[in-house]
Amino acid sequence: MTHFLDQTILEIDELTVKRKDRILIAGPCSVESQGQVFACAREVAEAGYKFMRGGAFKPRTNPYSFQGLQEEGIRILAKAKKEFGLKIVTEIIDVDHFPLYRDTVDILQVGARNMSNFQLLKQLATFNKPVLLKRGYGATIEELLLAAEYLLSGGNSRVILCERGIRTFETMTRSTLDLSSVPLVKKMSSLPIIVDPSHACGRSDIVIPMALAGLAAGADGLIVEIHPNPPKALCDGLQSLDFSKFRTLVKEIQLLKPFLDQIDVAGENT
Ligand code: PEP
Ligand code: MN
Repeated sequence: MTHFLDQTILEIDELTVKRKDRILIAGPCSVESQGQVFACAREVAEAGYKFMRGGAFKPRTNPYSFQGLQEEGIRILAKAKKEFGLKIVTEIIDVDHFPLYRDTVDILQVGARNMSNFQLLKQLATFNKPVLLKRGYGATIEELLLAAEYLLSGGNSRVILCERGIRTFETMTRSTLDLSSVPLVKKMSSLPIIVDPSHACGRSDIVIPMALAGLAAGADGLIVEIHPNPPKALCDGLQSLDFSKFRTLVKEIQLLKPFLDQIDVAGENT
């Protein structure tokens, strides 16, 4: 039996991501300009990580909010991918965009608002790309796993789940990070699960402790929002880490890793 730390979380082209790598996907909520994306890409690459996020087509709650740079956003992500050798994670809201995504996007993100869009999931199952499936903010853990089944049963086995918080009565945070989903998913499925403390918290001051807590709960990795100048962000600035905070997070993950490996939180001993 493979040691749990050597379990493969994801394979993309030449890249094999193992559980022990604790995948970190970082980048802006939304692509705003080439300068902003390149600055984030440089941070990610210099931290030694391989995956950058950035929304081009944004599913906004308010139709009058910034909807993303759309096609231009994908073109900017393509340039960053080439320049910094990163893998690109971006949300897909419409399968008609797939031709535009094909050469640039490495992981298709399905957002919380679309977790239960089963027609979208059925279609994504037929594309040869890994899918990052975020938990809906009103979805149970079972519903998340069933949504993943749409991808798996449709022929796409490269699925990563994401706990991004659920809606509760608490108002100090944007959502409530339900970390119990992490060990529960580990018990019930063999799919990898990562944690998004940015959307769960909605405030950058508590993103780092909740990110570390996610790893301590057994997550295979994290997705976090970063921005060169969070107060000026067009979307989700309040929850975006500036580069100094991002470097702190990277450092603290490195400090935590050896302990996680010993604790075996989601491994064979639990
Ligand atoms: C995002 O990751 O940019 C996003 C919109 O997150 P969620 O779908 O979890 O709200
Ligand atoms: Mn966001």
